[in-house]
Amino acid sequence: MCGIVGYIGTKKAVPVLIKGLLSLEYRGYDSAGICVLNNDILNVVKSKGRVKNLESNPELPNLTGSIGIAHTRWATHGIPSNENSHPHLDNSKEFAVVHNGIIENYTELRKMLEKEGYTFISQTDTEVIPNLISYYYKTEKDILKAVSLAIKDLKGSYAIEVISPLLPDSIIVARKDSPLVIGVGKGENYVASDIPAVLNYTTKFYFLEDNEIAKIDKDKISFYNNSLQPIQKEIKDIEWDAASSEKGVFADYMLKEIFEQPQVVMETIGSRLKPNEKCYFEDIDIDLKDINKIFVVACGTAMHAGLATKYTFEHFCKIPVEVDMASEFRYRNPLIDEHTLCIFISQSGETADTIAALKLAKNAGSKTLAVVNVIGSSITRIADYTIYTHAGPEIAVASTKAYTCQVVLLNILAIYFAESLGYSSKELENFKTEILELPSKMKIILDDTKLIEDFAKEVYTQPDLYFIGRNTDYAVSMEGSLKLKEISYIHSEAYAAGELKHGPIALIEDGVTVIGVATNPNLVEKTMSNLEEVITRGANVMVITNQDIPNMKINCNIRIPKCSSMLSPVLSVIPLQLFAYYIAKDKNLDVDKPRNLAKSVTVE
Ligand code: GLU
Repeated sequence: MCGIVGYIGTKKAVPVLIKGLLSLEYRGYDSAGICVLNNDILNVVKSKGRVKNLESNPELPNLTGSIGIAHTRWATHGIPSNENSHPHLDNSKEFAVVHNGIIENYTELRKMLEKEGYTFISQTDTEVIPNLISYYYKTEKDILKAVSLAIKDLKGSYAIEVISPLLPDSIIVARKDSPLVIGVGKGENYVASDIPAVLNYTTKFYFLEDNEIAKIDKDKISFYNNSLQPIQKEIKDIEWDAASSEKGVFADYMLKEIFEQPQVVMETIGSRLKPNEKCYFEDIDIDLKDINKIFVVACGTAMHAGLATKYTFEHFCKIPVEVDMASEFRYRNPLIDEHTLCIFISQSGETADTIAALKLAKNAGSKTLAVVNVIGSSITRIADYTIYTHAGPEIAVASTKAYTCQVVLLNILAIYFAESLGYSSKELENFKTEILELPSKMKIILDDTKLIEDFAKEVYTQPDLYFIGRNTDYAVSMEGSLKLKEISYIHSEAYAAGELKHGPIALIEDGVTVIGVATNPNLVEKTMSNLEEVITRGANVMVITNQDIPNMKINCNIRIPKCSSMLSPVLSVIPLQLFAYYIAKDKNLDVDKPRNLAKSVTVE
């Protein structure tokens, strides 16, 4: 997820690496580290926290060589700490590795290596990589070969850099599903997880593709496929200037994060879900037969993720689910006991109300499970069990990718619970396949955003907007309405479509905008007739649907791919996020830092 930088040449490596890490700071991270190869020794310096802590580390001036690798880490396995920071060395200290991504089968690989006598000092998934390279090097006596065999064993995502005194004039890099580029200089070369990190030094780049390996010397770069056959690659000249490219091609973090969703949802699914296999969560040993009620407790967007997934738990596990705001739950003496499972959702793991609600649930003797994005955060230290979304750092205040990852992870958790309770069905199996298909369907929506952009232009001056839907479409309507409020400062309300007649329809008059979400085949007719009612009263309507809908006077019809209505929030929320985003842009607002809001609400 976060950043890697590499340098090989004649300059001192450290200043180049630090500068590179600083320009990758925008990607978010929790620790940083560098390894420089000098006189056949791998010298490593790591610091928890900001790159400036690394810069002021008294040991940094001892790193004097001209070949080095550097890393900013966003912890996915093991808390942010010096020990868990990269680079990681193998037991013989002959291979240094930095890694961005997630090794899904690291437990298996670690066990295999432990049997071979290897020991581990960190809790990371990454530490298996240098040891695996060392393991293969023992028989192959060829580093490139050893790296290629090691990466063949890896499941998951990775961009890695490897340096070793056994190959002192090269950096070896490889990638799969994590970004990595190679910058070409004169008598020197650079590696980075994205272009801005080294754009001050060169504009000529090679883009490494999945399953490719490169051996980078200071005046030569050789490329190989994963069977180590040499391949040719084309060099590309990049014209952007360093400053404008900071967030890649995206104007804001929020837009970048919206577009990252297919990738992070894929990482969140990871190895937890495979077709025709039971779902798997390490370390959860709740006796579900003993649970007669589930509470889902959270705030804001995270609470909406709970509302969107309550249906899946009830449908597949047959356990009643109540979703509550942490700020309400904590002051209302909820009826909970040891037969209640309380699930707490928080992106940051530091949300004050959620922490208080969690403590209350624990004191009442209920089982507690947290769904969190930030490793080692407060909530993860209090809850009985924690499962992590792998959304990566979310920088924009308005949450987007954390929400979709929460919805996906909670759906997988529901399958796991259902299977643990002994339920199995064709429907459950199909549901698993549908989850695996979500990333590609999300991409389809992101491929064409023009209609949403145009409709936003039409309505961005309006004072009020309404969102309606039923079932999960209602849950996602609430999230769409919140997104709009947060970043565009337009008043909006979300209603269960069937409630319109009971009051809110009085507000509908000529020109009022209503957004309808209609993805549930059993309810589409109902929602469409509610939309007909507002159209009759002059409303301007956008509909988000994957169903055949009647011919009506709809101003903007957004088609999304078909999927189970229990999963549709993962898809239908994307047009709503984009809609809020484009409206805020049309109003010239700072989408990443909306007024009065903080990214993580650590006070009551
Ligand atoms: N999974 C690795 C870790 O937790 C790398 C995380 C990253 O991409 O920064 O250390």
